Amino acid sequence: MTTLTIKTGARTDLIDITSQINDQIYKSGIKEGVCFIYVPHTTAGVTINESADPDVKTDIKTILDKIIPWDDNYKHNEGNSSAHMKTTLVGSSEHVPIENGSLFLGTWQGVFFCEFDGPRTRKIHINFL
Ligand code: ZN
Repeated sequence: MTTLTIKTGARTDLIDITSQINDQIYKSGIKEGVCFIYVPHTTAGVTINESADPDVKTDIKTILDKIIPWDDNYKHNEGNSSAHMKTTLVGSSEHVPIENGSLFLGTWQGVFFCEFDGPRTRKIHINFL
């Protein structure tokens, strides 16, 4: 297993980690298989979506902040329930086929680390099967 460390820059932040994952696949020497990406946090997750147009990432952040506002009579006394809810929505893991030594994504797809309670230093675990 490989662990990447990432520094996020805002409370809600989507960071394209596709090239960092491809670097790890290249280092591993694996040509074909499955890449398993796991985020071991309760207020950050991972998702796959369009990386070609950065406005898609901005719209995802805007809509998540709109439907799950930071303040909304939550019970959780740490004060970051919004971040926990968003993490549950996007999920904590993704798996992507590996073909010819890199992620076999669609033309417009990228893998995004999703920060919901930043800025922080976070971890991403990557396994190759
Ligand atoms: Zn909490």
